[in-house]
This record gives sequence, C-alpha cells and structure tokens, in this order.
Amino acid sequence: MTKIDVGVLGATGMVGQQFVSRLENHPWFNVAWLAASERSEGKQYADASAWRLPTPMPDAVRHLTVDACIPGRGPKVVFSALDAGVAGEAEEAFARAGHIVLSNARNHRMDPLIPLLVPEINSDHLSLLAEQRRVKGWSGAIVTNPNCSTVVLVMALAPLQRFGLKSAVISTMQAVSGAGYPGVPSYDILGNLVPYIGGEEEKIETETLKILGSDGGRTRHTMVVSAHTNRVPVIDGHTMTVSVQVEAKAELDDVRAAFQGFVGRPQELKLPTAPIPAILLRDEPNRPQPRLDSDFGGGMAVSVGRLRTCPVLSFRFVALGHNTVRGAAGASILNAELMHAELQCLS
Ligand code: NAP
Repeated sequence: MTKIDVGVLGATGMVGQQFVSRLENHPWFNVAWLAASERSEGKQYADASAWRLPTPMPDAVRHLTVDACIPGRGPKVVFSALDAGVAGEAEEAFARAGHIVLSNARNHRMDPLIPLLVPEINSDHLSLLAEQRRVKGWSGAIVTNPNCSTVVLVMALAPLQRFGLKSAVISTMQAVSGAGYPGVPSYDILGNLVPYIGGEEEKIETETLKILGSDGGRTRHTMVVSAHTNRVPVIDGHTMTVSVQVEAKAELDDVRAAFQGFVGRPQELKLPTAPIPAILLRDEPNRPQPRLDSDFGGGMAVSVGRLRTCPVLSFRFVALGHNTVRGAAGASILNAELMHAELQCLS
C-alpha cells in the first residue's frame, strides 16, 4: 500500500514531537512536511526542535526544512499541535484551502459542526463532516480530539453508559508535560501541588457531555460532571479519582465485567494504533500509577483500578492515561486511522 503523505503544524513543540515520533514507521502515513512559527521557519528540524522525548529523533525528519504554517503548501492531511493562541484561525484557513486538519487545540472542540472524536466512543459523530462542509463552505475539514484529562475520563465512563450515567465527581492529578515546554516553573511544582489549571475544569465538564451526546454531540448528554483539577510533579500521565452515580441498580461485578468487556470501533477494525485492551482493569490495591502504567498499550490505553462501591454515589475508581499520547498526538493519529478506514477520505 502506498503511504499517505501527512504534515504536522506546530511540529517543534511537545505534542508536535510526539506526532513526529509516533508517525515514524506508521503503516499508513508518511511525514512529508513540518511547519511551525516564524522562529523556526527555514531551519532544519533538528535545529528548530529542542527534542525532549526519550526516543531519538527519527532520521527521516532531521534534515527536513521547517516551513511556515501557510495553507496550500503541505499535504492534504495535516495534524495540528499548534499553540491555542494561533490554532483557531490557522486551522480554519487550512480547512478552507482543502486540508483535512486533525486538531489537538481547544479552539474548535465545542463547535457544533466539528466532531470531538474519541474513536472507541463516538465514531458516528463523523457524520457531522458532510454538514460541516456544506455550512462552512470548506473543501477540507477539521476534526478534533479532547482535552488530555477529558479523554481519560470519557474512556473510563464509556463502559458504564449501559447503566445510565447520572453524575460524576472527579479530581485530577495532572502531569507537567500537559502544560507544554517549559511549562510550570520548577520552583512552583517541585515538592508541591498546584490546585488550579486555568480553564481545565470547564473543558472536562463540557467536552465530556458533547462526546457522550447524540446527533454528533449537538444533543448533550444529560449527566452532570463536577471536576477538580490539580497539577502535580509527575512528568507524564494524568491520574484521576472518579466517583460516579448510575441510574440502574448495578452490582460491582456488573461494572467489573463492563470494563473488562469494553471494545470500541478501533479494536473491531484493528486500526494500527488501537490499544487492545482499550481499558485495562487492574486489581492491585496501589495501581494504576503514572510512572509504571502510562505507557500501557503504547500510551493509548486507559488504566482503571481501585474499583469499589461509593458510600455517596454508586461506584468509585482511579483512572490513568498518557496525556501527550492518548491525550494528544496518539488520539489525533487514531482519529485519522478511523477516518481512513471508515470514510476513505484522506488519500
Ligand atoms: P508547545 O510545546 O508550546 O508547542 C507549540 C507549537 O506551536 C510549536 O511548534 C510552536 O512553534 C508553534 N507555534 C507557536 N506560535 C506559532 C505561530 N504564531 N505560528 C505558527 N506556529 C506557532 O505546546 P504543546 O504542549 O505541544 O501543545 C500544542 C497544542 O496541543 C496546544 O494547543 C495545547 O493546548 C494542545 N494540547 C497539549 C497537550 C499536552 O499534554 N501538552 C495535550 C492536549 C492538547 P515554534 O517552536 O516555532 O515556536
């Protein structure tokens, strides 16, 4: 099979580097174009990007010249890891010029004509694309993935939908890599915890209802979500404690079976980066932990543990996912794989 050429907008940043790394040796996609700000334009990627991943920079991109983010220059398919300050207008301009943009930024997530996609949960939301094209007049498209905490929460809630989700109270413990580089000053975070992440609680509370909603997310799910967000001195991996109220009378064993039997569209289609299992239910009393469990399933799986009944709501558990993989670049790549498999619209 001939690989599909793809580009990366914001290729030099934390999430951009994850794209470049995870697309190396991808069976369907080939990184052909890298773009970033004027600061990086014209430099070789190895010079423009301060590489911060533990795996080496792929040889194939070291000598690629970084371009400016100008629509029409790159391939049809572009992954966007642009800073939110510029992503809104830039991604729209790319979609207008015929590119299919797989966006990580927050800017377009809540647009009623733009899918906020988690392939295991709401692959049917891709049906919005026909109306998006008609109403917005774009020859391309924008598809987004959720905030890095939201995706962990919705993956953990999805198996419980069969019991009727009523409400959830969550507290996050979020890694510093979620704030980009250089991110939170070391003096603020070392030996400390910061009980505030700007805009994060609202994103979790609203994005969850769109993803679990119907009619492409335009009819929101009726559950109520209350989120507390905290930054902790962890490098990678967002952990959260979740208490959830369900409508049906369910036993702990029913919930356990729901987690263990959870299979989504990516697993059915055997997409190249689909984690199997999508959710790992752990029995140890002290897992999941970010240092030990974030990379499970290539960073694409969500780990759930400490499942037990809740004396206030119905059930409670801990959930963990890799914030720059499942919460960013890996999620966009899985979205692209789903679009290629279901719609054949990328080539
Ligand atoms: P980052 O490390 O700060 O990288 C930002 C990227 O945007 C860089 O490549 C930068 O290029 C580029 N950029 C900045 N201003 C630009 C401009 N005016 N024109 C063109 N390119 C410009 O940020 P990040 O952590 O990778 O996050 C990227 C996006 O993903 C953000 O929207 C963020 O909210 C979202 N996100 C991040 C995470 C996470 O865990 N980190 C998770 C989910 C979503 P230069 O290097 O040339 O300046």
